Amino acid sequence: MPTTANSYDVLILGAGHNGLVCAAYLARAGLRVALLEKNAVPGGAALTEEFHPGFRNSVAAYTVSLLNPKIIAELDLHGHGLSIVERPVANFWPVDAERGLLFPYGMAARQRAIAEFSRRDAEQLPQYDAVLEQAAALLRDLVLLTPPNSLAPADLLTWCKLARRLLQCSREQQRTLLELFTSSAADFLARWFESDVVRAAFAFDGVVGTFASPHTPGTAYVLLHHCFGAVNGKSGVWGHALGGMGAITQAMARAAEAAGATLRLNAAVRTVLAENGRVSGVVLANGEIIHARRVAAALPPKLLFRDLLPRGVVPAAEHERFTAIHSGSGTFRMNVALSELPDFRCRPGTAQQLHHGAGIVIGPSIGYLDRAYHSAALQGWSDEPIVELLLPSTFDASLAPPGQHVASLFVQHVMPQLPAPRSWHDPAEKAAFAERVIATVNQHAPNFRRSILGQQVLSPLDLEQRFGLIDGDIFHGQLRLGQLFNSRPLLGAANYRLPLKGLYLCASGAHPGGGVTGVPGHNAAREIVRDVEKGRF
Ligand SMILES: Cc1cc2nc3c(=O)[nH]c(=O)nc-3n(C[C@H](O)[C@H](O)[C@H](O)COP(=O)(O)OP(=O)(O)OC[C@H]3O[C@@H](n4cnc5c(N)ncnc54)[C@H](O)[C@@H]3O)c2cc1C
Repeated sequence: MPTTANSYDVLILGAGHNGLVCAAYLARAGLRVALLEKNAVPGGAALTEEFHPGFRNSVAAYTVSLLNPKIIAELDLHGHGLSIVERPVANFWPVDAERGLLFPYGMAARQRAIAEFSRRDAEQLPQYDAVLEQAAALLRDLVLLTPPNSLAPADLLTWCKLARRLLQCSREQQRTLLELFTSSAADFLARWFESDVVRAAFAFDGVVGTFASPHTPGTAYVLLHHCFGAVNGKSGVWGHALGGMGAITQAMARAAEAAGATLRLNAAVRTVLAENGRVSGVVLANGEIIHARRVAAALPPKLLFRDLLPRGVVPAAEHERFTAIHSGSGTFRMNVALSELPDFRCRPGTAQQLHHGAGIVIGPSIGYLDRAYHSAALQGWSDEPIVELLLPSTFDASLAPPGQHVASLFVQHVMPQLPAPRSWHDPAEKAAFAERVIATVNQHAPNFRRSILGQQVLSPLDLEQRFGLIDGDIFHGQLRLGQLFNSRPLLGAANYRLPLKGLYLCASGAHPGGGVTGVPGHNAAREIVRDVEKGRF
């Protein structure tokens, strides 16, 4: 099909960060690409906005570590205005009125912090770190791979490379990998640490974005998934994009447009068109038809099959498989504008201190993390939720007026849909849970509630309505064993090609999954270019 004013080589549905990355690579390869985004601003879940007069913050994703360095370099994101600074200190877990675990960077400092809870655990830390780092290194090798999808010669080669890589690991490393992929975060950590506070501190990463107890098998993998990142070349470090997460996607949008991609905002896609067994374009919500030989969905696969792909275009059983993808991450998100910094009972003072620059996690024991899940599973939301509080204005003055602050509150656990007849459509439910979140922080920092000047509250329903995050799932589908690597999004569709000729998946529902990595967009672009070059489809 020759391209005309309203036809392109590739249409990308959704201008979240993966759609932008995919578009940039495709345009750089000389393809005529248009990105179609339903919202007025690109970025999807990586976005900054003013939520209260004078106060700006990241709306959904709020911290950066997983963004792939190859993509930062190749798309020259720094040249397009992105600047990432390291969080001055990693995490802080307030425990009670007297105790808190402050986790700086560096082995000796972390050991000193842990020794306040257990000397034995402090001694274990170097070996634990080394084991996790080895596993994370393996993951880093896998992320840029297209998972093998069949027994075709190219896939066989990848299987062989993978087997070789695994067999090169020692027996002990293989056992650890098996454990990490199959066991619960609580079981995995119990083998290493005796202090409940220390175990809970590490287990937090195992339940982030996962509607699960730390005792749920598979949560050890989620813990690992949160460890494979690096900031400015330093692994395991969490960073902050100056200006908030929107600064990342603004830089990506500039890179995509500089490469020649067309970005169309307020352009919601209503239907994907198919003719003669292949994709032929899309219809927008306003009825406009845009033609293309290839369409790449940068939105959740379940959303694509549920809402955009007409029935009958792919076999019914296949269609049902996609709409049955497990999703729902159990997360709730708030931003608050603050007149002063939280005054923690265990570290008093509103003048800025080291712990104010940390990811502050309220989740002081494995029992607490477990109860947060079970009470949410029973009653819709947890009475004592797990809250991560980040105060990015302590290291980014552009976000709040001088002397005042913004806080991101990332909260687990809530049910994606409340038990009937209750619903997230009911503003009273949302307000009641937001109040639980504030009360939870207030227990540790009693000035918190009275310092709030304004707030933004996003339930799972809001996340779905604003960004298309189906069931409020921050990863476009759970990171569970049956939905990883060559099973992501489904067995047989792991190579970014969906079961309709010319239709691709290029966002978090594809390998290696969610988080602001850019990797699904990068990998899918490579596969699309291969198909174009080989004249396939
Ligand atoms: C509350 C929250 C906190 C998070 N915290 C972090 C974090 O701190 N660090 C981290 O690395 N990751 C975090 N994540 C995960 C991360 O943000 C996501 O995995 C990632 O941003 C997804 O990017 P994406 O490009 O794959 O898709 P998305 O960002 O979801 O983009 C999809 C795009 O498709 C658009 N769209 C949907 N339907 C249509 C349609 N019909 N037509 C046109 N466009 C459409 C949407 O508007 C959106 O722009 C968080 C996510 C959430 C929700």
